[in-house]
Amino acid sequence: MTEKRYLFTPGPTPVPPEVLAALAEPVVHHRGPDYKVLFGECLERLGAVCRTQNDVLLFTCSGTGAMESAVANLCSPGDPVLVVSAGYFGERWAALAKAYGAELDHLRYSWGEIPTADDVAARLREREAAAVFFTHSETSTGVVLDPQPFAAAAREAGALSVVDAVSSLGAVPLETDAWGLDVVASGAQKALMTPPGLAMTTGSPAAWERAASSTSPRFYWDWEKTRKGQQTLDAPVTPPVSLVAGLDVALGMLLEEGLEAAFDRHRRLGRACREGLKAMGLQLSSPDDDSSAVVTAAYAPDGIDSDELVLLLRDRHGVTLAPGQGELKGKIFRIGHIGYYDVFDIITALAAVELGLVELGAEVERGVAVTRALEAFEHTPV
Ligand code: PMP
Repeated sequence: MTEKRYLFTPGPTPVPPEVLAALAEPVVHHRGPDYKVLFGECLERLGAVCRTQNDVLLFTCSGTGAMESAVANLCSPGDPVLVVSAGYFGERWAALAKAYGAELDHLRYSWGEIPTADDVAARLREREAAAVFFTHSETSTGVVLDPQPFAAAAREAGALSVVDAVSSLGAVPLETDAWGLDVVASGAQKALMTPPGLAMTTGSPAAWERAASSTSPRFYWDWEKTRKGQQTLDAPVTPPVSLVAGLDVALGMLLEEGLEAAFDRHRRLGRACREGLKAMGLQLSSPDDDSSAVVTAAYAPDGIDSDELVLLLRDRHGVTLAPGQGELKGKIFRIGHIGYYDVFDIITALAAVELGLVELGAEVERGVAVTRALEAFEHTPV
């Protein structure tokens, strides 16, 4: 049999057959009536998933492009900004702010620490900022924070709140309007169950006001140009029509499941994954609580390089986990569970980790992880 492949990474994620079928439909012209209907529906569904009444702008790029668009449209060179980082993707906000010549104040936590809104408020009292950039779900560490108090701290200090929700949108609760998040940037290839290539941002009225006066150069990332196009269901550049068709189907599936049901599912998957890894005797590096519903990270046992485990599982068993990034490289491995996952995916991932560790000579009690994970999943009230 041709090797069957399993994808357990927190992006890209497995794509449901319904979405794959939409991707295989004949290509339509992006200025024709068929596309306009599709585009309109997709934008409306995106608004529902982001829980915003404001426009959601759709860009042809990965998540970083949406993040860059936020910096390009909100920051003029020399603007003071605050970046909160506690991992690999928080650092990306800092790099983007620097690239656009903003005056960067970097509230940097060590990787895996959980940033607090109190720290942000205190920092903003020391030094003003035009915008506060932070990460909802830090995919490199598994930490998911509550964006609401961060947005409140920013608002109180007269700053915009700009959230990286690349790995959180559609997986964990995110209320763009109700929580007063000025900008939410995300991507399609994670909990939105679509192949990579599309990213989106929201913008509050305050964010749009700022965008009108920002002097940073931009063309592809220009929000106003994109919004104008979208208002007539057009786009300033040729959109990836097939990906938009796929995203539309994926968003329809997510909304049909119901966002609250999807959040519950992700919470239970996280619980099952954590309990399974712990039953195997592994130490978690992501938080051991329900906030951590995006990706579960664990240390490899002493004497085992986690990169070696990831490679072995991929090459010998067709199972792809995510390695540790940056400072955590070689130490941890990560199991993603956002998007098109159910408990049997978690069971497969855990069984693979167990097998891989045994093959690498680790002492692991056999069979307990799967049982424990199923129990944790079943006994979690919905
Ligand atoms: N932020 C977070 C939290 C992410 O998980 C990722 C992707 N792993 C990104 C930003 C960057 O997105 P992309 O790779 O799609 O540009």
